[in-house]
Amino acid sequence: MSIRVRFAPSPTGNVHIGNIRAAIFNWLFARHLGGAFLLRVEDTDRERSTPEAIRTLLDVMAWLGLTYDEAPVYQSAQRARHLAAAEELVRQGHAFRENKEGKGECIVFRMPKEGKVEYHDLVKGPIRKKAEDTQDFVIVRSDGNPVFHLANVLDDIDMRITHIIRGDDHVENTFKHIQIFRAMGVEPPQYAHLPMIVNAMGKPYSKRDGAAFVGEFRDQGFLPEALFNFLALLGWAPGEDREMLTRDEMVAAFTLDRCKSSAARFDIKKLTWMNGEYIRHLPLALFAAEFETRVRAGGWWRDELPVAERVGIMALVQPRTKFFAEIPGNCAYFFHEEYPFDAKSLEKRLHGPGVPELLEAVVAHFATLPVFDHAATEAALRAMGDERGVGLGGMVHPVRVAVSGLSDGPGLFELLVLLGRERVANRLLRVATRLRAGSL
Ligand code: GLU
Repeated sequence: MSIRVRFAPSPTGNVHIGNIRAAIFNWLFARHLGGAFLLRVEDTDRERSTPEAIRTLLDVMAWLGLTYDEAPVYQSAQRARHLAAAEELVRQGHAFRENKEGKGECIVFRMPKEGKVEYHDLVKGPIRKKAEDTQDFVIVRSDGNPVFHLANVLDDIDMRITHIIRGDDHVENTFKHIQIFRAMGVEPPQYAHLPMIVNAMGKPYSKRDGAAFVGEFRDQGFLPEALFNFLALLGWAPGEDREMLTRDEMVAAFTLDRCKSSAARFDIKKLTWMNGEYIRHLPLALFAAEFETRVRAGGWWRDELPVAERVGIMALVQPRTKFFAEIPGNCAYFFHEEYPFDAKSLEKRLHGPGVPELLEAVVAHFATLPVFDHAATEAALRAMGDERGVGLGGMVHPVRVAVSGLSDGPGLFELLVLLGRERVANRLLRVATRLRAGSL
């Protein structure tokens, strides 16, 4: 039997990470087994499934490299087929018409009245329910529209889907779905319900917890490879504590028996770390393009900056960039002498007594160095720190804030060397003067 799986989202304009996680699992499953990964757009809600919403969905899939193997199926186009099947179910006694007072006629599917309804979930194990705890349900509304359960199952039959991998919010629906399959004379596919994605409190992860839509991560400068890798681990463990995996490695390792049934915690710190790792390994040309775009958008870019210096800046910034949106905010001082000062850093590191004198002493000491390199600047600050009893840290922090306006950044000595002795001296002297004048 050839494996056929599908991603069946209902486009709403934004693609939630929980949804795209299901797409990723289906895609990996299909690629691992050499099966087909299909897309079915469940677009029956005409108000939400606008052409724009569908475009967003297709864009996100392309961005993440979620390639599908056949033309997408649009559920709304199958309406006539859904209604015809509902009639057939009525004819065969699996469903009946019901006239709700004043509301018109709907079609109701019959659930079994005795015994059990059960299925074996490939992630959650056996799932069952007593028939008496199930209820007949509407499959065609009185307004003539087929409901989700009917459309979903019929499309899965028509697309010859062998495995349904989706979020566990559908566990309950599956009792209904397998009965429709059987009533249609089709053996139900295999099911794998993926664990819920939860926040730090164990509650379903939602937009209230932070970025929840794929587009938001893209805008913040998360790389598709990193987001893909991170989402693949929400409910799946490749073993041996492996975390950073190439797409080929994920495809090779992906099996449903390594999927977990317990809730998957969305840990933004981990995603940020992982994205930083992916950015660090990005070829310089790719990093450079994104870097320039972001610095330009931030208004800091200077075309006249020599290429060598630009490359030097990127060599310092790339290894410590966690997501691209950080970039303009932490790069101004590379490009301009008028760089902003972070208020907290200013208060903590530069507003103490004796700071202007200290910065001036550094300038004087730097002027005596035979070469202005990493080793020499470090030795200079260390010696001065020892002499003053403040240690290296007591020197590094004020100097860093003075030359960059920020408390964090690349290694200070690399930064000093990149800026060069003269620029460093000018910056330190200027800050000292402004501090004395109370204008900083
Ligand atoms: N449109 C449904 C959803 O997005 C489909 C679920 C499924 O069967 O995969 O939740």
